[in-house]
Amino acid sequence: MPFGHDMVHSLATVVELVNTSPSTGGDEGLSGLAELQAFVESRKISGVSTLTARDLGQVRMVREAFHRVFTAPDQPTAVRTLNALLAETRITPRLTEHDGHPLHVHYFAADATLAEHVAADCGVALAHLLVEGEAERLRTCSAPDCDRVFVDESRNRSRVYCDSRTCGNRMHVAAYRARRRA
Ligand SMILES: [Zn+2]
Ligand SMILES: [Zn+2]
Repeated sequence: MPFGHDMVHSLATVVELVNTSPSTGGDEGLSGLAELQAFVESRKISGVSTLTARDLGQVRMVREAFHRVFTAPDQPTAVRTLNALLAETRITPRLTEHDGHPLHVHYFAADATLAEHVAADCGVALAHLLVEGEAERLRTCSAPDCDRVFVDESRNRSRVYCDSRTCGNRMHVAAYRARRRA
């Protein structure tokens, strides 16, 4: 995919966030502040102060909005859904070099909450993806018991499972067994 490192990072963050949602087939992955903190650390989200129950509620709301973008039935719906989220988000582009990273743009305001931070950076990354005409790369897993989302970064846009090491393997084994039974 012709996307820069920041964008790839933000897309991976939004995928990880959305997949904590019970709407993707599993349990609530953000049931408390410890899990929210673990998400912040795993995605290396910078400039986050002490998290509160309010952050948790706001992040879950942003998460559901992003989930609606991934599951939009067509591009105009994805655009409308994303625009609604962007309209509610303070976005302040700012050039920065921090923690040894080369010069890059932050889209969240300097005093942003965690939810605003994620909404701004991931929202802008998804906006670029839609602008590039790549909305079809936003996918939901094809395994029957899994609704996790992913961004298909394959060259020929052929990926159908959320994670080839789990759902992909699982489905291949099931198909193999079905063939053997036939
Ligand atoms: Zn940064
Ligand atoms: Zn899956």
